[in-house]
Amino acid sequence: MTSGIIEEENKVPRQQKRALIFGISGQDGAYLAKLLLSKGYEVHGTSRDAEVSNFNKLKILGVREQVKLYSTVLTDFRSTLQVIAQVEPDEIYNLAGQSSVGLSFQQPVETLDSIAIASLNILESLRFLGAKTRFYNAGSSECFGDNEGRPADEATAFRPRSPYAVAKATAFWQVTNYRESYGLFACSGILFNHESPLRPSRFVTKKIIEKAVQISNGSKEILKLGDLSIKRDWGWAPEYVEAMWRMLQQPKPDDFVIATGEANSLKDFLKITFEKLELDWNQHVRFDEELLRPSELKVIFGDPSKAMKELGWQAKLQLPELIEQMIRAEQQKISVN
Ligand code: NDP
Repeated sequence: MTSGIIEEENKVPRQQKRALIFGISGQDGAYLAKLLLSKGYEVHGTSRDAEVSNFNKLKILGVREQVKLYSTVLTDFRSTLQVIAQVEPDEIYNLAGQSSVGLSFQQPVETLDSIAIASLNILESLRFLGAKTRFYNAGSSECFGDNEGRPADEATAFRPRSPYAVAKATAFWQVTNYRESYGLFACSGILFNHESPLRPSRFVTKKIIEKAVQISNGSKEILKLGDLSIKRDWGWAPEYVEAMWRMLQQPKPDDFVIATGEANSLKDFLKITFEKLELDWNQHVRFDEELLRPSELKVIFGDPSKAMKELGWQAKLQLPELIEQMIRAEQQKISVN
């Protein structure tokens, strides 16, 4: 097709599909690796330093030994190009980058680089190589900003209100631009929050679960939180990676909102968690002003109608069951330690 390095026409079709997951050590990377392996894929994945990373999440899911790992820094074009040329994947999923909204206010440059420069390097590599690889970009509902209490869908304007959201909006438009300008099969999933036992502790949902389980086991610790009135659309991560995969199986590349369609407040999350452990949250939680962000989204939730219609995808696990699963995993972890 082009004078790129990968000559697609001369290739013998492979029996097994090959996927490359950037950020395989994270929550979504681990669940996606497991999903793709179950579908018969050959799975390759990257970490910034694969020698040092412990790939604990892959180990917890029992798939560490089934994936091939590489050290790749996506802000470095050579490093990005090299791993794509070496693996020659049918599908690329970019799940790497600084993923915390809160931390993005402290590390705005790192956040922008690790999201926007990184996705540009992947797109440029694909363009340069002339590869027919399908590309999934991890977009975010944070791009919508406050949508005045209405559910956000694919036609909702972006009003990003954090360095993280600005970076994700930049990457989203890069993907759209490369799709339209160079015909790349590139999609953005605009995913709302999705949780699991593999969420890092810095995220508020995991922090609540960890502390609540410790308190139920006798800890006298006080759980410090910021604004409890914020409302979010929380889904179950293993279901969300299925939506990513479905996007890349479509006849045409497109962008999709992935959400449950329900908004719950942080107070609801807290209340359900403590009630499940037969505790009164009021006695164990304190407001901490330090945890307020320079700007915070009050209410965001999504309208996943397009994903339901075109991908046949729908969130199944509701918030109480999601919390139940996270509590159970945390209790098991504590009893093993
Ligand atoms: P995680 O934070 O669990 O994983 C992201 C991975 O990216 C890490 O394992 C790490 O891999 C790498 N990484 C972390 N910080 C940096 C950095 N500063 N520069 C470069 N790489 C970094 O994220 P999730 O799995 O939860 O999310 C996957 C993607 O989806 C992310 O892009 C996230 O922003 C996005 N997203 C997530 C949502 C959610 O609710 N989980 C919602 C919407 C979007 P290593 O250390 O091995 O290099």
